[in-house]
Amino acid sequence: MSVNPEVSEPRASMADLPQTEPYYCSFCLRPSEEVEKLVAGHGRIFICDECVATCNDYILTGKSDRPPRASLEKAPTERLLALLKPIEETVEGKSNQLQSVVETLRSRRVSWAHIGQALGISRQAAWERFS
Ligand SMILES: [Zn+2]
Repeated sequence: MSVNPEVSEPRASMADLPQTEPYYCSFCLRPSEEVEKLVAGHGRIFICDECVATCNDYILTGKSDRPPRASLEKAPTERLLALLKPIEETVEGKSNQLQSVVETLRSRRVSWAHIGQALGISRQAAWERFS
């Protein structure tokens, strides 16, 4: 573990994110201070080196023998309170990612009806939500 983990940016620019905040793995919710590396995805989605290793185990062998992370029930209250904002930002990040994908589809002249159909909503609802 290191105080200043190496943060990769294969898919999103970290330059747009405030460097004073801690970032959290979107999978195990550990803060950047507790992981060796954190990989950034689109829209404030991150994954830590240990979660990548677990994913690699699973992809290669169909299982992972790594110990599971402590449950939320056992986490200290202060830790849970500290998680609220990053989790909310992750949700916002996913919303931003959805907006980006929709904008990319629109730039390709994909219709609102087609986008709405893919989301299981009406053309009008898709337009109102994303335009
Ligand atoms: Zn993780």
